[in-house]
Amino acid sequence: MSVSGIPPHYLPRADLLTGKTVLVTGAGDGIGRSAALSYASHGATVLLLGRTPGKLEAVYDEIEAAGGNKPAIIELDLSTAPEDSYASLADNLASELPCLHGILHNAALLGDRRPIANAGYASWLDVMQVNVNAQFLLTRYLLPLLHQAPVASIVLTSSSVGRTGKAYWGAYAVSKFATEGFMQVLASELENTSNIRVNSLNPRATNTAMRRAAYPAETPTNNPAPQDIMGAYLFLMGDDSAGITGGAFDAR
Ligand code: NDP
Repeated sequence: MSVSGIPPHYLPRADLLTGKTVLVTGAGDGIGRSAALSYASHGATVLLLGRTPGKLEAVYDEIEAAGGNKPAIIELDLSTAPEDSYASLADNLASELPCLHGILHNAALLGDRRPIANAGYASWLDVMQVNVNAQFLLTRYLLPLLHQAPVASIVLTSSSVGRTGKAYWGAYAVSKFATEGFMQVLASELENTSNIRVNSLNPRATNTAMRRAAYPAETPTNNPAPQDIMGAYLFLMGDDSAGITGGAFDAR
């Protein structure tokens, strides 16, 4: 089933995610931080995955201070983590949890934005590793735990330049096209054979470090803050989107 967009003026119930365990990548900053806080404030137990311990600990403390369920920190650098660290992560989680109800694949690198003619291979590979390969590995190894949940949701983070190519956006844009492709293939594989739904979400211009780096001449506060776009993140993670799979959504 697909819908054309996030329901306008969507108002999530306060207990939307109660009883669910959700993993968020890049949970220490920007949109991922807001999503982790928002999921926790709607009842989820959140697994905070990222590469900077201090940032993850700050989010952990904020969730605890707000009275949320005790989160967990998963320190993993998606640029360098070898395949077996994903397998170990999945084994560790399977020994602690009966199931996993959701993954928000949010972590990403912007990389160099320059013409393809001048693109550096090392930077290209790094962007592809974090933005594409890491989300494949994490999904691949966590699928068994997602299958254990009565219903589960995988949300992949897209971008406008992952839907229409744009000059100088190089590896980042290509990685977001790959994300859309990954979403479609996985959604098609899991539809009718599982209770796992898979969708992509384009946050659109949002005031974060990545946006400020990409558009240094912009007035940052002209864009919404991450907490202003959380309705879409909650809708796709919670059961209000049950049965919706294979969709490419915009947060607003
Ligand atoms: P930020 O740069 O603010 O945050 C990115 C997050 O990803 C950080 O928590 C960062 O960790 C983490 N991360 C980066 N590299 C790694 C790595 N190697 N291993 C683990 N974690 C890593 O970006 P946004 O919040 O703006 O972006 C979130 C998502 O939204 C991305 O997928 C982005 O492409 C997408 N997006 C954003 C838009 C916007 O306007 N902001 C527009 C369209 C799409 P750390 O802080 O520790 O470096």
